[in-house]
Amino acid sequence: MTSVGLGFPTIRSHRAQSGRPPNPDLIDEFGRVARDLRVSITEKCTLRCTYCMPEEGLPPIESHALLTASEIVRLVDIAVRHLGIREVRFTGGEPLVRRDLEKIIAGCRKLHPKLPLAMTTNAIGLDRRAEGLANAGLDRVNISLDTIDRDVFVKLTRRDRLPSVLAGIRAARLHGFTPVKVNAVLNADTLATAEELLQWCLNENVHLRFIEQMPLDADRTWNRTNAVTAEDLLSVLRQRFRLTPHGRIDPSAPAEEWAVDGGPARVGTIASVTRTFCADCDRTRLTAEGTIRPCLFSDIETDLRSALRAGASDEELAQSWRDAMWRKPFGHEIGNDGFSPPVRSMGAIGG
Ligand code: SAM
Ligand code: SF4
Repeated sequence: MTSVGLGFPTIRSHRAQSGRPPNPDLIDEFGRVARDLRVSITEKCTLRCTYCMPEEGLPPIESHALLTASEIVRLVDIAVRHLGIREVRFTGGEPLVRRDLEKIIAGCRKLHPKLPLAMTTNAIGLDRRAEGLANAGLDRVNISLDTIDRDVFVKLTRRDRLPSVLAGIRAARLHGFTPVKVNAVLNADTLATAEELLQWCLNENVHLRFIEQMPLDADRTWNRTNAVTAEDLLSVLRQRFRLTPHGRIDPSAPAEEWAVDGGPARVGTIASVTRTFCADCDRTRLTAEGTIRPCLFSDIETDLRSALRAGASDEELAQSWRDAMWRKPFGHEIGNDGFSPPVRSMGAIGG
């Protein structure tokens, strides 16, 4: 495989020479340890962001194939007690679409009173559910909002729901989900409105992070040559704000931080494509159908749902999870000209 000269990194990797050592944690062949669990709980969504979902939505998961609330709670419990997971984030699809989200969160909270529980959401309907989610034990929310220009929002998400998202962000603050983080995916449509979005987030006292769009859109329109990079964004923002590097908060956290106009306000950039953080990746993913996905970009998944429903013990499920993670690939190959995107798009994996 040859690498292309567009500034995209090529991952070099050295696999372990021997087999998996008897370690209870989710280690892989390259010495990384997964501590952060992403749990997708649905493929359904109230938006149709062009960089994620097809216009008609994802093919529905049949109800018997979807993990139930109690199955999710059991797998989270195994991840924490047997596998060293220290943080859990619920995602999708849109997690708020599931009516039993509060039950899932309360179940995890009851078993693990100190476990950090977070959710990534588009915030539609959060104004009505924030209080119940806080009472169930949810600690933090990351809210996706790419623009505050209503026309651009409609074009990007194919739905006229910006007011609901803004109401959700305000409710999140009101109910103590602080710091509220806002994630914005960068693409050619939103770049011109980035300054306006940053100013809005500064005014609302929420922390904004821009994320490079990855080739995980269901419509397969992502293209290396016209992808918007974090560098492109910084030059746009610098026309209005003074940005000074603030570094990374922690090495496994992918955001690089910038102080805005001397601080204390900050903005983050997550250069998932041009400055990959695969070498520090500490994530493991559970899909809504109960498969373990070690890496966003690899379609190799391990089915835990069948084993769980066939009566496997906690330790048997934990060992399957360990074996799945041992084979985690070193990194994505976006910079290589042989790259092909995974079969599942972002909404079907859980971002
Ligand atoms: N629906 C929720 C939301 O939008 O926050 C949760 C699921 S969404 C798949 C999780 C995150 O993935 C969001 O922050 C979204 O912006 C991000 N995302 C979706 N498609 C992406 C892509 N192609 N590249 C980078 N991030 C993407
Ligand atoms: Fe839905 Fe989130 Fe994907 Fe947008 S990014 S379509 S809100 S799952």
